[in-house]
Amino acid sequence: MKPDEIHVIYGTKPVSMVKDLLERMKAADNMDQGMKIALKPNLVVAKPSQEGATTTPAIVEGIIQYLFEHNMKNISIIEGSWVGDQTARAFKICGYEEISRKYNIPLVDLQRDDVQPVSVQGESLKVCKKALEADYLINLPVLKAHCQTLFTCALKNLKGCIPNSEKRRYHSMGLHKPISCLAKALKVDLNIVDALNGDLTFEEGGNPVRMDRIIAGQDPVLIDTYCCSLIGYTKKEIPYIPLAEQLGVGSGDLTRAHIAEYCEELKTGLTFQPSRKAARLAEKVKSSDACSACFGGLIHALNRLEENGRLRNLKEPIYIGQGFKSKSMSGLGIGSCTSGCSSYVKGCPPSALDIVQFLETANSPVK
Ligand code: SF4
Repeated sequence: MKPDEIHVIYGTKPVSMVKDLLERMKAADNMDQGMKIALKPNLVVAKPSQEGATTTPAIVEGIIQYLFEHNMKNISIIEGSWVGDQTARAFKICGYEEISRKYNIPLVDLQRDDVQPVSVQGESLKVCKKALEADYLINLPVLKAHCQTLFTCALKNLKGCIPNSEKRRYHSMGLHKPISCLAKALKVDLNIVDALNGDLTFEEGGNPVRMDRIIAGQDPVLIDTYCCSLIGYTKKEIPYIPLAEQLGVGSGDLTRAHIAEYCEELKTGLTFQPSRKAARLAEKVKSSDACSACFGGLIHALNRLEENGRLRNLKEPIYIGQGFKSKSMSGLGIGSCTSGCSSYVKGCPPSALDIVQFLETANSPVK
């Protein structure tokens, strides 16, 4: 596995998906038996993963099974929930107590951990010791929107590795600079992104959008650059990504990335069940056997257009799904299945960013 690799798997069975992904990446080749391996999920609030905010416990379970099968036994799960919640509550409600019991893996509440001062580029930070002491840190963020930074994934998930007083201080500093410095202080060895069901608008969940994929890679800057495009943003719109790149945390150059995609079942035509907000955004969409990653990307793209005040200008019908293969339609097509539309965005699935740019162009008044 190299830092410029991104691995993506589509499907609906997280345990087998993540094990398959780790085998394909040969992840164990980069680990030694006896290493202290820390798994850092996103348990920002005490809500089950179905609500779109927290890491799906089945992903963690799959990783533990993979590590056990490769004789890595020194594993812990570390997390510090946000200031308004207790990590112990989140461990319980999010299903991590059950995993801990089943596999005899300790849960470490970083809200109660000792703290170590660290300096990055003249910025003084306080970081939880257990996170710094890990020999191999596996970062397990959720791909979702964020009310302040617009997007949260690999880099921002590390904020769970600082004490509550630092979380308050980071917010007073506008988040972007301290998040990039923290990523420099804490070396992540592997990022495995839960992009199954992340939230459309808010880090606390409530509007989950099914995308049914897990994404993995070593470089958190590259992973975030790729993942923000999946919900409709460029890295320039998320200042902490280029800031982390400037600090040498990683590369945000997607043109040099090697992206490998694997499908367990997505391309066989899953039925997508949108949340209430997603259903409203998709009112004018004509969907027939759309895959969840494709439809989810469209929902994120429509939300971006609504935020920019451009959704109401969209007059032509939008088609999406395998049911439109080899058919001719007058309107805008999303994904390769809709190549029979008057115009369509390529990709299988296209990213939300590509969809946003396509729909904005299609919407532009003719000059
Ligand atoms: S283009 Fe068609 S097959 Fe590909 S992801 Fe979209 S709906 Fe599925």
